[in-house]
Amino acid sequence: MATATAEALSDAARAFVSGGPHRLLIGPDWTEAADGRTFETIDPATGEPICDVAHAGPEDVDRAVRAATAAFEGKWGTMPAAGRSILMNKLADLIEEHAGELAEIESLDNGKPVKMAARVDLPGAIDHLRYYAGWPTKIEGETIPVSWPNVFVYTRKEPVGVCGQIIPWNFPLLMAAWKIAPALAAGCTVVLKPAEQTPLSAIRLGQLIQEAGFPEGVVNVITGDGETGAALVDHPGVQKVAFTGSTAVGREIGAKAGRMLKRVTLELGGKSANIILPDADIEKAIKGSFQGIYFNTGQACDAGSRLFVHRDQFDDVVSGLAARAEKARVGPGLDPETQFGPLVSQEQFERVMSYIRSGEEEGAERVVGGNGDGLFVRPTLFTGVRDDMRIAREEIFGPVLVAMPYDDLEEVARRANASEYGLAAGVWTRDVGNAHRLAAMLKAGSIYVNVWGPSDPAAPFGGYKASGIGREMGHANLDAYLEVKTVWTGLG
Ligand code: ADP
Repeated sequence: MATATAEALSDAARAFVSGGPHRLLIGPDWTEAADGRTFETIDPATGEPICDVAHAGPEDVDRAVRAATAAFEGKWGTMPAAGRSILMNKLADLIEEHAGELAEIESLDNGKPVKMAARVDLPGAIDHLRYYAGWPTKIEGETIPVSWPNVFVYTRKEPVGVCGQIIPWNFPLLMAAWKIAPALAAGCTVVLKPAEQTPLSAIRLGQLIQEAGFPEGVVNVITGDGETGAALVDHPGVQKVAFTGSTAVGREIGAKAGRMLKRVTLELGGKSANIILPDADIEKAIKGSFQGIYFNTGQACDAGSRLFVHRDQFDDVVSGLAARAEKARVGPGLDPETQFGPLVSQEQFERVMSYIRSGEEEGAERVVGGNGDGLFVRPTLFTGVRDDMRIAREEIFGPVLVAMPYDDLEEVARRANASEYGLAAGVWTRDVGNAHRLAAMLKAGSIYVNVWGPSDPAAPFGGYKASGIGREMGHANLDAYLEVKTVWTGLG
């Protein structure tokens, strides 16, 4: 472990990180990539390498899919539903037992504040597994009252099969839980590919999956980059692809899945509109909007990145946000005082800084933030923004907010909806009528009223338009892992 921030790790986290080699979990074994390739995972707080991780190629993807297929056709496929619940609950317990260590691993690899990982990512992952652990014994078919005489018709819900699950780097362990929990509840098997920027918590998760006693091959973890992900999508043995990540890659995966007629769910980008109505509790709206964009250093798909404020309150809201931004404590994630960590990678840093420059070049005014040091970018706020500027249209995925004034409700709804994305939208108001009028008018998968970004495994989450296909969480996501089979029996 070369990186200086790793000195802050507990013994358990240090033992995992320096205890490599960090290999691929395929069936029962932790193996090197077939061609021996590895890559370095980097500490974004220092830019220094943390450790080497195996880089899976097409041969490894093939081995992992075969292992998942064998598990599906073998022990996992024949296990009673209650057995799946027991194992999923066991895994949730193990994650809880190791929550401190996992939060540190997440903070080291991703850069996020360790306190935030402990408060948001870990409980979210545990809750997800426990919620879906309740489902296996409740997956029921139906008897169908068809109009034919002397037949008996019923449906069975069956697991889709082997699932290729590709996840991003912004909430690595939480995204892994979002993906594996519904798949396991449905009775599917999984090949999980974490993002190349943040592979470590998925490897630790793989160890805990083994410790929980899942049969071999039920979950396989293959670390690698976009090529690894593409090989997984292409593999004919994968029946369903679940992806969370950028809209550009989502389009590519969706097109491939379409050609191969694979089941697919996509949770993609956003440019979510956050609207403060004139009758809102302004202090509450400022606080919530600040968190809504800068949480996780703006690296959240449902970040409230377009703020619309009624013209009468515009200056007050902008100065309230700027005052908070100036006080924000930006620093290494493993420092307990840190509120906002670095961006995840050099590439992401350059992308965010290029958007900040583009805002300035297009004539917007940077009120606060923007100065980057290492991979750190302070909370940044622009005014003087037109709807057609790149910073107002494109997903930045960093701590950059554009604030724009509006005059009336119809106008703001039209402008909020004039986006290719539709993941989330928010309304701050004391007027129940306006809240629900806007909730109906806004074209987004989640509407937040007087709150931003709450999440619960029971509540569906996903996008309209270019923000995705299908829903994560709740019953909706369980159904995405099930086929419906109709059985006809002649009784005559
Ligand atoms: P970002 O640009 O924020 O890194 P990506 O959408 O590129 O987001 O990455 C999200 C996940 O998708 C990562 O695990 C990455 O390795 C994977 N990925 C990237 N490109 C592809 C691809 N062409 N096919 C499948 N997976 C991919």
